[in-house]
Amino acid sequence: MSTARHTAPRADLHTHTALCKHASGAPEEYLAAAQKAGLAFWGVSDHFPAPAGYDAAFRMAPDDLPRYFGILDSLRDIADASSLTVLAAAEFDYVPGRMNEVFAELDPLRPKFDYLIGSVHYVGDFAFDDPDKVDEWPRYGVDAVWDGYLTNLENFVKLGGFNVMAHSDLPKKFGFRHSKPETVLRRMTDIYAYAAAKGICLELNTAGLRVTANEIYPAAELLRAAFRAGMRITLGSDAHKPEHIAFAFDEAAELARSVGWTAHTAFVRGEPVELPL
Ligand code: ZN
Ligand code: FE
Ligand code: FE
Ligand code: ZN
Repeated sequence: MSTARHTAPRADLHTHTALCKHASGAPEEYLAAAQKAGLAFWGVSDHFPAPAGYDAAFRMAPDDLPRYFGILDSLRDIADASSLTVLAAAEFDYVPGRMNEVFAELDPLRPKFDYLIGSVHYVGDFAFDDPDKVDEWPRYGVDAVWDGYLTNLENFVKLGGFNVMAHSDLPKKFGFRHSKPETVLRRMTDIYAYAAAKGICLELNTAGLRVTANEIYPAAELLRAAFRAGMRITLGSDAHKPEHIAFAFDEAAELARSVGWTAHTAFVRGEPVELPL
């Protein structure tokens, strides 16, 4: 009888704080949830406030950055004597034509971060994953949103500057699927190859299980393509509430093992740390 797998220490690298204005709960409640889940690493990765004015209602304000690092410092102090390591991170977006502004804000702060998560939440001016904008999908066109998403993701990966590719098939969130799934698979296979060459990890994001899509991001056939491309993986709950921490990680680990991975990755000061699944 072995329970080693089930009790293997894990890392949740994608979680938020109330500073982004759409997450709830005190930092200490997230910390308690991370400890209760038995995590070895908990990465706090709130939405980074750049470029100026972009998506301001859904990310922390630039003036909140000192407060954000203050929260991280105090969480690290509290967790210090425990077996949990708190990691400092941020989730930042690909904004076509404005990445110079993003990196101008982000680059001086890199020494403060253990790792960075790269995300695409917009196609043009359409926040396609915003629950308040679900009705606008038909107007933009399902295939057009997916195609634009894939173009943004490809350009972001080619640009680089981040360690983890978040929720890589996010447009499926509300159940809208490309009419030619083979197109998504083909383009994503190329994107994963570029990412693997840059050492970017693929995130298994369990937030997909909490929405209409009702499956982990990304889907199993994409996971198999990423595995073949040689990508390493991270686990992320995308917690916007304390009770989301390490959400469905047994299911994510089982899925990852079924594809072929035996480990997942955390980052400490930019250096990968491998943990069994
Ligand atoms: Zn969020
Ligand atoms: Fe995101
Ligand atoms: Fe997130
Ligand atoms: Zn996210």
